[in-house]
Amino acid sequence: MSSSYADGLSPYENKGVLGLEERYDSVETLRLKCGLLADWIQGARHVVVHTGAGISTAAGIPDFRGTNGVWTLEQKGLKPSMNISFDEAIPTKTHMALKKLIETSKLKFIISQNIDGLHLRSGIQRQYLAELHGNMFTEQCDKCGRQFIRNFATKSVGKKSLDTVCRSEQIGGRPCRGRMHDTILDWEHNLPDSDLTLSDLHSSVADLSICLGTTLQIIPSGNLPLYTKKYGGRLVICNLQPTKHDKKADLIINGNVDEVMIAVMNKLGFEIPEYESGMDPTRNSDTTAKEMDWTIPTSRIKEMNVLYKKVCKPMRRKRKTFMYERERTDTKKETKARKQAFTVKQEIKTEANITTAGEMCKIENDHVADNSVKTEENAKDIEKCRYSMEDATEHNTDLKMNQTV
Ligand SMILES: [Zn+2]
Repeated sequence: MSSSYADGLSPYENKGVLGLEERYDSVETLRLKCGLLADWIQGARHVVVHTGAGISTAAGIPDFRGTNGVWTLEQKGLKPSMNISFDEAIPTKTHMALKKLIETSKLKFIISQNIDGLHLRSGIQRQYLAELHGNMFTEQCDKCGRQFIRNFATKSVGKKSLDTVCRSEQIGGRPCRGRMHDTILDWEHNLPDSDLTLSDLHSSVADLSICLGTTLQIIPSGNLPLYTKKYGGRLVICNLQPTKHDKKADLIINGNVDEVMIAVMNKLGFEIPEYESGMDPTRNSDTTAKEMDWTIPTSRIKEMNVLYKKVCKPMRRKRKTFMYERERTDTKKETKARKQAFTVKQEIKTEANITTAGEMCKIENDHVADNSVKTEENAKDIEKCRYSMEDATEHNTDLKMNQTV
């Protein structure tokens, strides 16, 4: 369970804001908000969902910063009372609803911070899922980098070596024979490249980002939904506790995530499928089967890069046009010098906006296309903040944000 996962991580002091009071919308408010969300999903072109530990509590897996979360209780010297193992837990209504939305093309991509493997076990295909912090039911080869699905959860965390050998075949049909390691990140680890690249691209292209069961405090995962806002899309946050980005949200739903998804699916006219072990690849006894390969297809990243250029690049140009128009309407009272200063300031501001919006995206895109374009300084700065907790104070948060620019 997640407290054994938490015990396996190295000590880390700043775990963010913990145990904030939960809020609940009234029945009528919740009904109206779920109806609105369903309408937005129906009318959206590209929907992305960002999931956190809050969607797995109904499966018996404790979250981290909730009122009974692992870190919240740790602060009091306590442990969570829930004790289901990762192997025993099964996908919740929310996991199954998301699977249905993917199948019906209403949802394009899921970005998860969860390591419990429940998205995978709901039967979602790899190309629709990013697992930014790893997955207890997958392992990765240290030689060829391919990932494979396991039949049971790993005992280790922190990318430690396992007693298994790579199942992939190299060109010519020879087995790879590389050593496998778990995919669970420890605090200092970088996020997996392909998962993060796809997350950046999808978040930027999305016209609707929905955050479910996360307080959005871990970066960069917690900041990805903001890319959707930067490119003119909507942000919806569904969580019982306040989150880091509530002020930027177009809609905040304070309700149980399963209840919200049931109401939304009902309004959309979709039935939520039941979990079936036959659809769960971790229950597949043929471990050498092709479906057990859990590597992100590179073709998917290329396709998303094309879509990103088509959707997001024109928006950057549009912003520049706005800037020049604003310049033309300046009052005559302004002296030439002041006007020049204003222009420079605006240009810097616009440049900063663009960089913030697409920072990871741009850098990762370049990284995919050509490693040499990524400057050492940028790379170093990104590495620093990839899997670190944002400092609690706003001032330090800004510093962290700036480090990524
Ligand atoms: Zn291998």
